[in-house]
Amino acid sequence: MVFIGYREGHRVTEAPRLEVRSITRAFGGRPVVNDVSFTVEPGQVTCLLGPSGCGKSTTLRIIAGVDRPDTGVILMDGKPIAGPDVMVPPESRGTGLMFQDFALFPHLSVADNVAFGLKGTRTEKRLRVRDLLGRVGLARYLDSFPHELSGGEQQRVALARALAPNPRIMLMDEPFSGLDNRLRDGIRDETLELLKEEGTAVVLVTHEPEEAMRMGDEILLMRQGRIVQAGAPYNIYNAPMDREAAAFFSDIN
Ligand code: ADP
Ligand code: MG
Repeated sequence: MVFIGYREGHRVTEAPRLEVRSITRAFGGRPVVNDVSFTVEPGQVTCLLGPSGCGKSTTLRIIAGVDRPDTGVILMDGKPIAGPDVMVPPESRGTGLMFQDFALFPHLSVADNVAFGLKGTRTEKRLRVRDLLGRVGLARYLDSFPHELSGGEQQRVALARALAPNPRIMLMDEPFSGLDNRLRDGIRDETLELLKEEGTAVVLVTHEPEEAMRMGDEILLMRQGRIVQAGAPYNIYNAPMDREAAAFFSDIN
């Protein structure tokens, strides 16, 4: 909670952008997400970091609303969006989604890909699309088709598309892992810059410590469905909780 002052003698706080409160999810009796809790503030980038199979994507899918928790509650700006009696549909949650193989529509132009799903008049949509494509440096490709663009350019279009409806929070599942190494750093930085400009909160899922260190304001270290350590990147890097965590971080220079 962000403390914002006193009103009539009571402490007043602003709800976090996202609050995940003790969610669990089991498949076939096996807990895959186990009592996971965390908050994300507006403009904050929170990384869910952990080895393959530890439950990162399942957690993100539950936040996105394409899966539901067995127990626990999720609140967006203080309002429940998932819980025992609530299930707000994915399209009404104010979440943007990006993942590695989130392909663009091949038969639509770049502009139409970004405009897809946007509400408003034609003029409003066109202005928003131009603004976003300008900001990812692709204004000249408005009328191009995805296959005419490089992988990195396509990823930037996907980012513009995900940001177009102004999501309250962007959910990103290993969105950079399909890119080659030369491109990846540049696109990570551009993505962060654009998200910060828009003030969008982010949950970024990654299995690469180096990516979490580079992009995160906070890292949540996951292991076997649980968050085992949480903190600022350099705190976790400098004081990993045990040998296993230390080994995980050891290949970063
Ligand atoms: P991560 O993203 O960290 O690699 P996941 O959340 O994708 O992990 O998966 C965690 C575990 O849950 C894995 O063992 C996976 O096989 C299992 N799992 C995920 N989704 C399902 C499902 N729909 N049915 C059964 N098992 C699943
Ligand atoms: Mg995953």
